[in-house]
Amino acid sequence: NNFPGDNSGDLRPRQTPGVLYSKANPTPVKAPKLLAWSAELAAELGISKPTQQSDTDILGGNLVTDSMQPYAACYAGHQFGQWAGQLGDGRAITLGEWLTNAGQSWELQLKGAGRTPYSRRADGRAVLRSSVREYLMSEAMHYLGVPTTRALSLVTTGDQVMRDMFYNGNPAFEPGAIVMRVAPSFLRFGNFEMLAARQEIGNLKNLTNWTISRYYPHLPGKDAILPWFEEVVARTASLMVEWQRVGFVHGVMNTDNMSVLGLTIDYGPFSFLDDYDPNFTPNTTDLPGRRYAFGQQPSIAYWNLGCLASALAPLLPDTDALVATLKTYEAVYSKKYQAMMGNKLGLDQVTNEDISLLEDLESVLTRLKPDMTIFYQILMELPEQVEITEEILNHFKSSFYQTPEPSAAAAFISWLKLYQQRIKQNTIPPAEKLARMQKTNPRFILRNYLLHQAIEDLENGETNLFAKLQEAIKDPYSKKWDEFFLKRPNWASQKAGCSM
Ligand code: AMP
Ligand code: MG
Ligand code: MG
Repeated sequence: NNFPGDNSGDLRPRQTPGVLYSKANPTPVKAPKLLAWSAELAAELGISKPTQQSDTDILGGNLVTDSMQPYAACYAGHQFGQWAGQLGDGRAITLGEWLTNAGQSWELQLKGAGRTPYSRRADGRAVLRSSVREYLMSEAMHYLGVPTTRALSLVTTGDQVMRDMFYNGNPAFEPGAIVMRVAPSFLRFGNFEMLAARQEIGNLKNLTNWTISRYYPHLPGKDAILPWFEEVVARTASLMVEWQRVGFVHGVMNTDNMSVLGLTIDYGPFSFLDDYDPNFTPNTTDLPGRRYAFGQQPSIAYWNLGCLASALAPLLPDTDALVATLKTYEAVYSKKYQAMMGNKLGLDQVTNEDISLLEDLESVLTRLKPDMTIFYQILMELPEQVEITEEILNHFKSSFYQTPEPSAAAAFISWLKLYQQRIKQNTIPPAEKLARMQKTNPRFILRNYLLHQAIEDLENGETNLFAKLQEAIKDPYSKKWDEFFLKRPNWASQKAGCSM
């Protein structure tokens, strides 16, 4: 394309006004070695598994072939609610675009490939810990059916990377790694915000029109900005519904981490919920505000869409229409959220009378704090005719982290009675009810403590658990991996996700 870029190849950190990207070659590493490969994704892309060192060298940033034009993108963002100015790909370098035989185009990007003009004061590297997390979790989200960027490969670099370990304050060296991540595009809200903030209205207009024609080709050729924004709003709402469905907490919903394609992007200190707690955040830098806690995500997404709307405003004659479009978020989100919850509970449909059932469940869960994943599995398997008495608590026992308080237990029992009555009114057969619940409620989730354990093992040269998790993530709705169908153990308290 002919977007203005900085082609100097200069990697020194700096502001880059006037350009949308900077040419940046990966900095070679000591000894790239393939640790993991996503065979299904590779097949979809039509890329074969590395067979020789020169293939792995590409994945480690040591070999740039003639067909590649590596660059780092320039973008900005609001971080924790504050305008943060230029951020950009500090440690992600796009090698180029890959066109599959099916005609789908994918951006191939190395994360941790060394400094770029956007590295600010950091080293442009990623450690094994964060790379394993992104590699496994982005693939896990894909198999859960949540829109996400993907990960094709994971290589260790043979270099040691210095990191400040937050738990002892001493700098520590950790093994370096690089993930090749893949998405139709990594464009973020922040790409648009950057151009608006610099008042580069020509660039903003070109980027917007290009994004629409390239990634939203079904929209009208002319005057498409509002319909496009409306679709970004709807996709973002859908993504939030999906996160709430599976209990995913992103942890850093800054506007530079919001995809304009509605994908989960930028895997940092994320975690799944174990116990149901809307206030839970895995991000230790987000305390005590908990801006990005589980229960906040849908409203933060709305706030972030507001930032995108502000960035687009200079392109539109009328901000009223823009604001009206932004506001469609609430209705779209609610409708999709209710439909999703209806599926989680196996309802034939969600009527206005059902909404209080959904709301009551949320408050009951918040009081009981059961394991979210296990709770829904037990609910799914509860016989429809079972008599609801105090005994029923025994059924749910394996989902509880603590003995329910009497008042919370009573509220739960009352809710179950209402739920049972509601299920009796279902117009769908029990098998259909069960099928809906099975499709909507994952049974295997990539719990934070499992990731933690797998990484610790890998650092000691032990690959068993990692290999098992790589398989388990592909079948999250089946009972195949019931060896992991357990609450978080006591030794692993639900806290930091670890990002860098
Ligand atoms: P994040 O919070 O992960 O979205 O990161 C915010 C910004 O910091 C992005 O521009 C990243 O590229 C940059 N960044 C984070 N870690 C590093 C690193 N190790 N080296 C260079 N830039 C980084
Ligand atoms: Mg980011
Ligand atoms: Mg990041």
